[in-house]
Amino acid sequence: MPDDTASRYRGRFAPSPTGPLHFGSLIAAMGSFLDARAHDGDWLVRIEDLDPPREVPGATQSILDTLVEFGMQPDGEVLYQHDRAQHYLQALQRLEALDCCYPCGCSRRDLRSAAGEHAGVYPGTCRNGLPPGREARAVRLRVPELEIVFRDRLQGEIREWLPTACGDFVLKRADGLFAYQLAVVVDDALQGITHVVRGADLLDSTPRQILLQRLLGYPRPVYLHLPVAANRQGEKLSKQTHAAPLDTARAPQLLCDAARFLGLAPPPALRKAPVGEFWHWAIARWDVARVPPERAIRQH
Ligand code: GLU
Repeated sequence: MPDDTASRYRGRFAPSPTGPLHFGSLIAAMGSFLDARAHDGDWLVRIEDLDPPREVPGATQSILDTLVEFGMQPDGEVLYQHDRAQHYLQALQRLEALDCCYPCGCSRRDLRSAAGEHAGVYPGTCRNGLPPGREARAVRLRVPELEIVFRDRLQGEIREWLPTACGDFVLKRADGLFAYQLAVVVDDALQGITHVVRGADLLDSTPRQILLQRLLGYPRPVYLHLPVAANRQGEKLSKQTHAAPLDTARAPQLLCDAARFLGLAPPPALRKAPVGEFWHWAIARWDVARVPPERAIRQH
C-alpha cells in the first residue's frame, strides 16, 4: 500500500529537455494531467535538465510553451533539476553515511569487456575496494540481495530481484553529474509527489527508485505506467527515432488522438473545438481501467 494515501494528490510531468514534445510525450503529459485533475489534485512540471550534454538549446521553453498551448497549465513553479545539486549531494551523503555506496573506478570499456551473463549489470569489480592502480570515477549503490515487489495501477504486480536485474547502479557519474535514478527519487520526495504517471519505458527503473526511497526514508508514491507510443517498426517514439514535434495548430486533433490512445473515445466535434472543451470532456471521463495495459502500442 502507498505510504501516503491520506495526503492531497500531487502528480507531475518530468520531461528531459532533449527536444520538443512529440506524440509520445503528449501521452505521458496527458495521462499525468488527467489523473491529477480527475483526483482534484495538483499537477507539477519538473524539467529534468540534469545532463547538459544531452540538452537541446531552446527545448525547455518549447516544452513549457507547448504544454500551455495544449491547455496543460502547471500548478506552482516549474522545478529545474540543474539547480538542485545540493539536494542530490545531501541524499548521496546520507547513503554514504549508511555505508550503502562505494567509489567505482571502472571505465565504460572495462564494463563492456566484463559484460557476461547479465549484460548491463555491474560485475562488482570495485565493490570491495578499488583495485590497485584504479582511481575513483563514479559512485555506485551497493544493491542488497532483495526482491522489490510493487503494484502498478495498470501493469499489475511487478517483481524484480535487484542483483540480477540491475546490480550496483550509478548514483554519481564519472563526469560528476548526478544520475537520473537519484535525482528523480529526491525530487519526487521533496516535491511531495504522491502519484507518478509516466511511460512504461521507465517501469524497469521503478524498483531502483523504490530501493532508494526505502534507504532514504522517503514515502513511496503510487505508480501508473502508461503504454508508450511506438512507430511501425516497434521503436518508442523519441528524438532518436525522429518523432515529429507537436504541431500547435493541430492541438485539438492531437489531443483527441492521444485520448484515444489512452482508451477514451472523444466525439468527433472535439477535433475542431477549443482545447478547453476537450479537457472539460476528458477529465470527467478519465478512467485507468480503460487504458490498454500494454507496455507499447504501435502507431500507424
Ligand atoms: N525525464 C524522464 C524522461 O523524460 C522522465 C522521468 C520520470 O517521469 O520519472 O524520460
